[in-house]
Amino acid sequence: VTQRVAENLRPLVAAAAAVGEQVAGPLAARTDSEARWPAEAMAALAESGLLGLHVPVRFGGHGQGLTALAYVCETLAGHCASTAMCFGMHSVATAVIAAKATPDQEERYLRPIALGRHLTTLALSETATGAHFYYPRTTAERRADGYVVTGEKAFVTSGGQADSYVLSMQAGEAQTGEFSCAIADRDAGLHWGEDWRGLGMRGNSSRRMRLDQVTLPHCNLLGSEGDQVWYVFEVIAPFFIMAMAGTYLGVASAAVDIAIQHLRGRVLASTGEALAHADALQQRVAEMWLDVERTRCLVREAARAGDEGDAAALPLILSAKIAAADTAVAATNAAMSACGGIAYREDDRLARLLRDARAAPVMSPTTELLKLWAGRTLLGLPIL
Ligand SMILES: Cc1cc2nc3c(=O)[nH]c(=O)nc-3n(C[C@H](O)[C@H](O)[C@H](O)COP(=O)(O)OP(=O)(O)OC[C@H]3O[C@@H](n4cnc5c(N)ncnc54)[C@H](O)[C@@H]3O)c2cc1C
Repeated sequence: VTQRVAENLRPLVAAAAAVGEQVAGPLAARTDSEARWPAEAMAALAESGLLGLHVPVRFGGHGQGLTALAYVCETLAGHCASTAMCFGMHSVATAVIAAKATPDQEERYLRPIALGRHLTTLALSETATGAHFYYPRTTAERRADGYVVTGEKAFVTSGGQADSYVLSMQAGEAQTGEFSCAIADRDAGLHWGEDWRGLGMRGNSSRRMRLDQVTLPHCNLLGSEGDQVWYVFEVIAPFFIMAMAGTYLGVASAAVDIAIQHLRGRVLASTGEALAHADALQQRVAEMWLDVERTRCLVREAARAGDEGDAAALPLILSAKIAAADTAVAATNAAMSACGGIAYREDDRLARLLRDARAAPVMSPTTELLKLWAGRTLLGLPIL
């Protein structure tokens, strides 16, 4: 990844590569087998300064956007997809906080994040509305001392581990589909469900969170009540999609690398040649590589267009995750076939990547929703 990065992003990508190589990668098998949150890798990311990727420079951060996020997530995912996802969700939540932070929120959240002393995450999804995360049922009653919040969030990545949770809620007289974003601090009185036992992405700690009349101070509201459409399409969707597109691209790319290494090294005694000499396998490698490179170009272009405020950015951004999900599932599957029975082991790295990749299409915005939104955008129709 490092070699093709724009000059200004190289130190950030190199820092992510160092965390991946030295900490996240060596622990990845254990993170997966024990479904253990990657505490050491997240601490190393904090130490490296990368937690402040989207914190404005004036508060000590890097002031970066979608391109940097896609690169860093891709780099980390090549070593440990769970670490990339926990980092990605922290980064999206940071971008949501930074978008309309008050001076108080700048001091309480953005500066500590830039210093690597605060980890945040996203708590949007609910079992009640599933993939339609923009229709929260969590309610917030406005009282003199704050918002009294009641509801249940599902799949909260870094659940129970993060210092704060950016959540969505229907405040005041809001109708279905109108929501506000707010921050719940870890000591707000949150109740956590059972440990996360995913098929893949097993280090995520993507747990259920219950808010039972939890009081959030008014100063923890992000933006204004009912700011939902602005947050969803200006911040949440682009950052969320780029974090995931980068992560699943990293998974796909790692699978292709494993297949290439395997085919070069596996020599059959019967022929005396490496499998790399078989025409059909050479073609398969070219197909896998082409798929990954095509998706990488799309992800990069979508991130660039988003960062530059290009009017044509939206369908590119939406399509970036569709493509990354398809590529991750296809590449891990094809690599598994290319590596044969030898790779078909529960503790094999490729098996882990295959399971990690399978989360891509079902994480919201899911592939179905993204196609709907991209199609409506191209047809000039309202997205929701
Ligand atoms: C590993 C992992 C990590 C996650 N991390 C987070 C996180 O940090 N924060 C967070 O807020 N959420 C997170 N999520 C939740 C995720 O974003 C989705 O909200 C969740 O996976 C939806 O699951 P569901 O079973 O409720 O989907 P359902 O809503 O039940 O959908 C099931 C399937 O039906 C399809 N579908 C639903 N409605 C329609 C429709 N109208 N038209 C066509 N197809 C439709 C969906 O695309 C999906 O494929 C995570 C999920 C996973 C798996």
